[in-house]
Amino acid sequence: MFMTKTVLKNLLTKYATRLYPFQTRETFKDVKGELKIEIDKCVFCGVCKMRCPSQCIGVDKKGRSWEVDPFACVYCGICVDACPVKCLYQEGMYKAPVAEKHMVFHAQEEKADAPT
Ligand code: SF4
Ligand code: SF4
Repeated sequence: MFMTKTVLKNLLTKYATRLYPFQTRETFKDVKGELKIEIDKCVFCGVCKMRCPSQCIGVDKKGRSWEVDPFACVYCGICVDACPVKCLYQEGMYKAPVAEKHMVFHAQEEKADAPT
């Protein structure tokens, strides 16, 4: 009888939780969200990689590329504060759910030589 009452109550009242991912919560003010880069400003110094506590950043100076594992990132913001040219920033909410893991990869395009 007690169980029937509980089942009926749960069926007739509002959900206790959000129907994520269909309903998402508003982002909190000043939340440290997903890590982003303005790749054209990056000088590939590797400071972010050295300072990252999760060791989830890869920097290839020769290949002029930068990558991060968003599934290992803990959103601490240390790399953002450490970057000497301020090309890293955090934005929005945490990563949306996905079915497969992947790296976030950015590479600078070759710049054409200035005319002489
Ligand atoms: S610290 Fe900044 S400039 Fe240096 S590699 Fe990282 S993102 Fe690029
Ligand atoms: S936010 Fe923190 S964990 Fe994520 S890449 Fe930057 S230093 Fe690493």
